[in-house]
Amino acid sequence: MEKTKMLYEGKAKIVYETDEPDKLIVYFKDDATAGNGEKKGTIEGKGAINNEMSAYFFKMLKDRGINSHFIEKISDREMVVKSLRMIALEVVVRNVAAGSLAKRLGLPEGTPLKTPVLEYFYKNDELGDPLLNRYHIMVMDLARVHELDDIEHIAFCVNQILINFLKSKNINLIDFKLEFGRDERDKIVLADEISPDNCRFWDISTNEKLDKDRFRHDMGGVEEAYREMLTRVTA
Ligand code: ADP
Ligand code: UDP
Repeated sequence: MEKTKMLYEGKAKIVYETDEPDKLIVYFKDDATAGNGEKKGTIEGKGAINNEMSAYFFKMLKDRGINSHFIEKISDREMVVKSLRMIALEVVVRNVAAGSLAKRLGLPEGTPLKTPVLEYFYKNDELGDPLLNRYHIMVMDLARVHELDDIEHIAFCVNQILINFLKSKNINLIDFKLEFGRDERDKIVLADEISPDNCRFWDISTNEKLDKDRFRHDMGGVEEAYREMLTRVTA
């Protein structure tokens, strides 16, 4: 398979068209941003780690009945995926209060949530990714009700599978962000990536953060945390 042309360069990945019209190649960069692009930097080796970890999780989810866009990993930093028509939503699932939820509701970071919480954000950099509810999504024509039902079902299944798996690695899954697209038959399919860039992972024994919050908050040990997560996940 050959890359034909660059389709899109995002903050963390580059997406290429290929000589097979229904397949794309995703290239994972070391670039990192935070605060809607205000903070920029690089995390050495991140691209390879996120590619490998995402491939691992997508394969694991497939074995447990959840399809994704993932087809195969073809190099250190590249995977082949099914080309989808993306839905402009960031779907966040939370088990423990952190980040924007902790701030918005005034909950101390680390407060366990009685039930998993699902939130939608509009994927729109100019607007700063605002929080949306189902009514906003309807009036903005971003997705249909039955599509949101499918998205929520998949997102909660992914949550349960990841919680159980990560617990065996002594990791607490605090929260994560998923993206979805529509395939050629309008079916909802899980896409993008699952990595320390878009999940919060805390060590169960020490509450040490092993994710992008180390970069967001200049905590140091960023590369080490990403490597540690990959080692635990794939061990
Ligand atoms: P961002 O757009 O947030 O800067 P990235 O740098 O991660 O994000 O770029 C990857 C882009 O590819 C994202 O816009 C994402 O929505 C899109 N994408 C992910 N999976 C697919 C797919 N299967 N088909 C088409 N686009 C995808
Ligand atoms: N997240 C993401 N991309 C974004 C915003 C958030 O992947 O543009 C992830 C983030 O890593 C965390 C979860 O979504 O795992 C919830 O993030 P939150 O709303 O708390 O925002 P933040 O504090 O990261 O700005």
